[in-house]
Amino acid sequence: SRAFNFSAGPAALPEPVLRQVQAELLEWQGERASVMEVSHRGKAFIDCAAAAERDLRELMAIPDDYYVLFLQGGATTLSALLALNLAGPAQGADFVLTGHWGEKALENMKPSLKARVAASAKDGGYTSIPDRAGWQLDPSAAFLHYTPNETIHGVEFHDIPDAGGVPLVADVSSNFLSRPMDVSRFGVLYGGAQKNLGPSGLAIAIVRKDLLGRHGRELPPIFELLNQAKNDSMFNTPPTFAWYVLGLVLQWVKAQGGAAAMGERNGRKAALLYSAIDGSGGFYRNTVQPSARSWMNVPFFLPDEAREKAFLKEAEAAGLLGLKGHRAVGGIRASIYNAMPEAGVQALVDFMADFARRHG
Ligand code: PLP
Repeated sequence: SRAFNFSAGPAALPEPVLRQVQAELLEWQGERASVMEVSHRGKAFIDCAAAAERDLRELMAIPDDYYVLFLQGGATTLSALLALNLAGPAQGADFVLTGHWGEKALENMKPSLKARVAASAKDGGYTSIPDRAGWQLDPSAAFLHYTPNETIHGVEFHDIPDAGGVPLVADVSSNFLSRPMDVSRFGVLYGGAQKNLGPSGLAIAIVRKDLLGRHGRELPPIFELLNQAKNDSMFNTPPTFAWYVLGLVLQWVKAQGGAAAMGERNGRKAALLYSAIDGSGGFYRNTVQPSARSWMNVPFFLPDEAREKAFLKEAEAAGLLGLKGHRAVGGIRASIYNAMPEAGVQALVDFMADFARRHG
């Protein structure tokens, strides 16, 4: 039987979505073929792709002056492409670093523009958000990049920072559609799909239209995001299967009540887990500043490595998977994305209480 999967990504998908995929795998939409086997230029797939875009626009209230792009290469490739597409080589871009993925984006973007760290929480081990008053923002930067939710360090912004008038570019890989978000405050929202939205192989970029086509570089046509925008993300063959599954996930989110309902549920899940950690008398410890604790990825430690090892082994036997912390941080990490039901978090906190009783 299926276990509760707390993996950071690729992550759990809603079970009803997987059942629908299973039911439609051999014959899809009367096509007498699988969705994986039909042309992306045929009516059936074009309708499916357009429905997914419509649903994402509706769920996130994406204004008309934004493109929604469905791309390959994950968030990593997309960050490199965004650097090429949003700025010329002599232009600057600011970065606020609150964890591993912000650092990675900076490394990826650095060869293509003049990157500058405007603020960093590295000295504190990425357990907080740097004091906003100390951010050194350059008003002439092409954009300000940050990571609203740092998947490894478990640090999340619970509001949208002021970018000082420059476009805000946000890697939302691990908090996409986890609650309502005012898209109009951003220049670009982007991320891989494989945590909250669908299978890996698909990355989404929501880009304010006026930001594309102004970089002044000569780019290979496939790297020019405007070409994807003008061709409904079908400048070349898109990842059709992942796009189809993403469409089903979006229908599931709609049926759950949309972004607001997701946000309420995710807030309750996070509160349940953090209160189990904080109420454990120090047996479990989360070291992130409470106001910056992530609703999606909850890293925590036990008193020693031996007990962390035992915790992981017993958790797996109890049907709680994917709880090993990232090697950069160690310990335990519970990822509780949209698809994780409240019953899964309840099962985890029950297991944690029982484990602490036996090993405390
Ligand atoms: N950004 C964030 C916030 C992530 O969590 C991840 C993956 O875990 C990535 C970027 C990298 O994504 P991808 O593997 O799709 O390139």
